[in-house]
Parts: sequence; C-alpha cells; structure tokens
Amino acid sequence: MKNRQIAAIQVSVCGALTKVSDYLKTYNWENQTCGKFCLYPIDDVLPLTTEKSPLPPSKKCGYQSCHPVKEGYINVHIVPHTHDDVGWLKTVDQYYYGSKSTIQMAGVQYILDSVVDALRKDKNRRHTLTSTIDIQLHLLIFLNITLIYIHFRFIYVETAFFWKWWIKQHDTVKAHVRRFVNNGQLEFISGGWSMNDEAVTHYQSIIDQLTWGLRKLNDSFGECGRPKMGWQIDPFGHSKEMASIFAQLGFDGVLLGRIDYQEKTFRLNTKSAEMVWRGSKELGSKSDIFTGVMFNTYSPPSGFCFDVLCTDEPIIDDRKSADYNVDKRVDDFFGYVKNMTKVYATNNVIVTMGEDFNYQDADVWFKNLDKLI
Ligand SMILES: [Zn+2]
Repeated sequence: MKNRQIAAIQVSVCGALTKVSDYLKTYNWENQTCGKFCLYPIDDVLPLTTEKSPLPPSKKCGYQSCHPVKEGYINVHIVPHTHDDVGWLKTVDQYYYGSKSTIQMAGVQYILDSVVDALRKDKNRRHTLTSTIDIQLHLLIFLNITLIYIHFRFIYVETAFFWKWWIKQHDTVKAHVRRFVNNGQLEFISGGWSMNDEAVTHYQSIIDQLTWGLRKLNDSFGECGRPKMGWQIDPFGHSKEMASIFAQLGFDGVLLGRIDYQEKTFRLNTKSAEMVWRGSKELGSKSDIFTGVMFNTYSPPSGFCFDVLCTDEPIIDDRKSADYNVDKRVDDFFGYVKNMTKVYATNNVIVTMGEDFNYQDADVWFKNLDKLI
C-alpha cells in the first residue's frame, strides 16, 4: 500500500474527473495514450467485422453527455447496471437463453431486449432524473447542504453476451441502440469479452479478450462506443498487472467491487478508497490509473433492489394509498448517501443500482428509480 499514491479524487462512471486534488491537477492525463496492446495483431487469428455505424460520431456521448457536477453540492451518480457472468453456475448459452432456471433465474437475451425497450420509452431518462424539491428539503435536514444532483445512465459490460444478442437484432433495433450509444443513454464500460479474473489468467489472454471486445465496439459504434473506464466489480482480488494494462489501454480509471475486507475498512476509515495506483515500477507514470473502491461492492443500497429477482418494497407515491412510503424511502436513501459522504474524500459518490442478471424486466427498475429521483 505504501507504494500507492493516494489522492483525493473521484471519477464517476459517467466519466467526468469530478474532483481532482492539487496533485492530480498537474497530472498529465493526455499522456495516457493507447499502448502497444491496442495494436495487438488479433485479426490474424479472428475475423473482424467490417460493420460501421451509419451515424456520424456524436458530440453528445461520453463526457459531453454528463451533467456537469456542482461544486459545494453532494453529487450522486446513480449507475443502473447488470452484472452478467460469462459462465458461472450455468454455461454461456444457458445464461444467454435463460434455460436451467432451477439453477439460476438468468436470461441475458431478455435483459438486453428489456433495457433497449425501456430506453426507447424515455429518451431523457437520465436527464430527467435531477433534483426535486423533496430532495432539497431532505438534504437540508440531513446533510446540511443545499442540493443533491443526480446522474443516471445505463452501462453494459460483458460484450460476449452483447454480440450474441446484437447479431440477432433487426436493423431497426440496431439503429435504436446506436442512437442510445451516441446520445449517452447507453455506455459501454470495460468492453472486453468478459470481466476477466485477475488471479489465474495469463496476461496474453487478458489482452486478447480486451482487444477483441474493444475492436468489435469500435467497428460497430465508433468513438461513442469506446469504454473509458475499467469495471472490475466481481473479481475476487486484484493485480497490479491488470491496473497496468488498463492504464496502457488509455482508460481514465478503474472501479473495484471487492477488495480484502481489512484493507477496505482501513481505506474507508481514512477516506482513501480512491487512489492513483501505479501498476508497474518499470513503466512508472505510464502505468498510473485512478482506482476507486465501491462502497457496497456493486449492489444497490440495502432495501433498494427493485428488480423482479428482489423482494424489496417498491416506491409507492400515491398519497391516497395506505402503503404510501415516499417519505420513508427517501429518508432511507439519504441516510445511505450520508454514510457514503463520511468515508469518501469528495462530494461525488457513486450509487450502483443493479445486481447479478438484473433488468430482465427493466421497467421495474427504471420506474422505481424515476420515482426515487
Ligand atoms: Zn460475477
């Protein structure tokens, strides 16, 4: 840990470097150019598609599509996501098609269908979810600040499943997806074929699977499909080589879900769950990457899992209903956010809203998130 440089910085998956310490203000992020790994000659081995996005690159994707963060405010970055293991308790095909439900209720084809439908219903979904009077009032009471500002978009990670789904889609659906990628409603994170393990994998395989996934994204979506962050939320343990590879890929940061419990306690107690990790002594600053450890692995706050696979209470906002619960749910949410602000160094916190194989019925999630916000 001594070798790691700790800095007060937070990056949201939304992309912006939202809070940069003096140390990092002088840090030259522009130098994080694509290393030799980007040019790994995989096309000798695997055929690449020549599919090109029919839409010109948009200026609204990536960082440009994020709400600017507000100084002096608690900025809550809500990240709807699904974690889809490319093979775990079931095979890849069983996960994709949703078979063998007695082993695990998980069908990735339904997740992608459902998310695309949900995004089509409300093109401003991420934009409309900003502050409301309720939120301001509650924060005045609980956090003694004036406003919370919420960022929201859907991210997708495991491209092995995405391509399996993509090649079966009608051109109309593909056009919708390209639009979501271009307007920032849908963002790819990490972008490899899978979220690789960091302990037993060989670096050559890691580079191969990232190269393949990233080249496919580039072929199909161009610049707007380029992931900017690593998302290693479920590997059990992390290696400096992985940090080094992410840095050399040109990523702006990597977010981790699981670290050793004692280190996590220490880091949260010392507000050092965000750091710049130097992956390689030999490469020096070329292997530096912003690294953030998430508050609750990649799960939603306790009581806020709105998926069909969960049993948490939905948000009931009809005041005539005997089950009306908005006040309590909002209080609970702000209690959670308040706890986060005690252990992170900046006013930017990331709240993950998703779990393993969530969003098979995406509207259940989105409807409740809309109400919460
Ligand atoms: Zn997993």
